[in-house]
Amino acid sequence: MSHHNQPATEWANRHRRALTTRHTHEDVLTDRQFELLLEACLTLPAPHDFEARFICLIAGRLGLRAGEIAHFQTAWVNWNRRTIRIPQHEPCRCGYCRRQARQETTHNDDLSIEDAVASRWHPKTVASARLIPFDLSLRLELCIERFANRYDAFPRSRSTINRRVEAAASAANLPGRVYPHCLRATAASYLKHRIMSAVEGVCPDCTGTMSVTPQVCGDHHVEPGRRCESCDTIFEVQFTIVCDVCQLMYGVPSNRCLLTEPRMLVFLEDHDYDPWYDWILIELEVVERQTTLSEDPFELEMVLEVDGDRLVVTLDEKGAVTTLHRVPR
Ligand SMILES: [Zn+2]
Ligand SMILES: [Zn+2]
Ligand SMILES: [Zn+2]
Repeated sequence: MSHHNQPATEWANRHRRALTTRHTHEDVLTDRQFELLLEACLTLPAPHDFEARFICLIAGRLGLRAGEIAHFQTAWVNWNRRTIRIPQHEPCRCGYCRRQARQETTHNDDLSIEDAVASRWHPKTVASARLIPFDLSLRLELCIERFANRYDAFPRSRSTINRRVEAAASAANLPGRVYPHCLRATAASYLKHRIMSAVEGVCPDCTGTMSVTPQVCGDHHVEPGRRCESCDTIFEVQFTIVCDVCQLMYGVPSNRCLLTEPRMLVFLEDHDYDPWYDWILIELEVVERQTTLSEDPFELEMVLEVDGDRLVVTLDEKGAVTTLHRVPR
């Protein structure tokens, strides 16, 4: 089984800039600043206190964008799997969506205002329609439960989100500007440390050992610009990493198992990809294909390619790199 990634398609190019906004790197909050921010949410008058806490937690720990939070629906939550599904499309005619639709028509002569409004709301990029596990922490889980007890959908407008974050940051006396996108960068940095620890076999919660098993999607099918309906990712192999002690679980796309490999980091840096912030782009543009060479013992081959420069890697059933060759053009 193999999947050939489509060449840099129009939609990938169109969204490239949006995905590589780098200016927020410096604005990542430290763990201490993030705790202070959450604490300060509680000092705001009700119901701003809860709204601010909900926004800060799902942006700062799960990485939801402001536009996604403004359209958040309790129906996106799967309580059994403890996941949030950001849909590819959800009908909406709110003020924000109407403004966005108008803006989209100014960049595209073929698009009528009715069609643009009819296609709202959609997430920022095709790749950002996704499934997000929220079982990282009990307080996150409880916060989403409390939200669901009160609301079917986020009760405020898009612009309220910035105001709540600003109010909490000012109550916390945090230096610099704090805004939703820097909370998203904070989530990326937080997850990076946790996932890398898991990939290296150490539980980020309890320091217990973690066990890895490959998951191969049995019914894998990908249309250009979409994820597979059955496994919800682009590629058919993921590694599930579970803590032997506390059962903390992560599903990690196979290419991210390579991020502990220095030669992979050099390869990405040579081609101007940031290994930590460009991972969606890396999946779309760099991972050329992955092929299950053998089911038992499990062996996966991945081919990464940029401008004719190739990296050919094999992974074993633990997601560990067994061979790695760089083939320059
Ligand atoms: Zn809307
Ligand atoms: Zn699949
Ligand atoms: Zn653990």
